[in-house]
Amino acid sequence: MERVNETYIREAIGLANLNALRIALYQQTGLEELATMSVEIYRRENSPLELPVLAKQHHARVVELAVEYLMKGDVKKAPIPSFAQARRLMELFENESPNELSAHYAYEDLAFEDFSRQASWTHKPAEKALQNFEVIVVGAGFSAIVAAIQLQSLGINFRIIERQADFGGTWQLNDYPEARVDISSFIYQYKFVRNYPWKHYFAPRNNCAG
Ligand SMILES: Cc1cc2nc3c(=O)[nH]c(=O)nc-3n(C[C@H](O)[C@H](O)[C@H](O)COP(=O)(O)OP(=O)(O)OC[C@H]3O[C@@H](n4cnc5c(N)ncnc54)[C@H](O)[C@@H]3O)c2cc1C
Repeated sequence: MERVNETYIREAIGLANLNALRIALYQQTGLEELATMSVEIYRRENSPLELPVLAKQHHARVVELAVEYLMKGDVKKAPIPSFAQARRLMELFENESPNELSAHYAYEDLAFEDFSRQASWTHKPAEKALQNFEVIVVGAGFSAIVAAIQLQSLGINFRIIERQADFGGTWQLNDYPEARVDISSFIYQYKFVRNYPWKHYFAPRNNCAG
């Protein structure tokens, strides 16, 4: 087996969000020590966003445990957690229990399903009725694209009408320099797109794939 390079591992860990790393490590190892570490709430000046961060006194320990784990070189992909298990991990990450709705939303965002919220027929009409039916989608933005994918998967004819020259909606319109998402690219993306090679945490309008 190829020798794992400790310098490389330490460099990568140096870039990690240590609270997220702690949870990933806990998921992989079940080490109770990781579950009992304390979390503090960080709030950047003038920002409404709050971020749970790992308390400083645990930093060195999490790094050591992560290096030790990764140096073994036999890292297996963690099994998909059940909703209850994922909720427990969310609770440890934030140091408080997420409410039922947020937990479900976050679980969906983790994209374990191939296509979350995929539409399906409850009473599928006869083929002939479907053939004589067409949906008009007004606008060719982010929402229209997913509507079209859903309609296609249900076998419903559709047509997209757009006043601009191309797809993309507001992203087509807003082409100022440095236009980019303001939430993480992974959260923003269609969840049915697997392993998209994002180059940036906050992807710019242009040139976002690696
Ligand atoms: C720079 C930038 C950054 C953003 N960052 C984020 C982010 O980080 N997170 C986030 O959640 N959102 C973000 N947004 C918001 C963005 O608007 C939405 O995420 C999403 O793209 C909206 O998609 P939509 O399809 O619903 O609407 P739109 O993209 O607005 O598409 C509507 C389309 O309908 C067309 N249309 C409207 N009326 C008619 C008509 N009568 N006839 C024909 N065509 C019509 C329009 O021309 C347009 O193409 C960002 C937007 C911009 C510009």
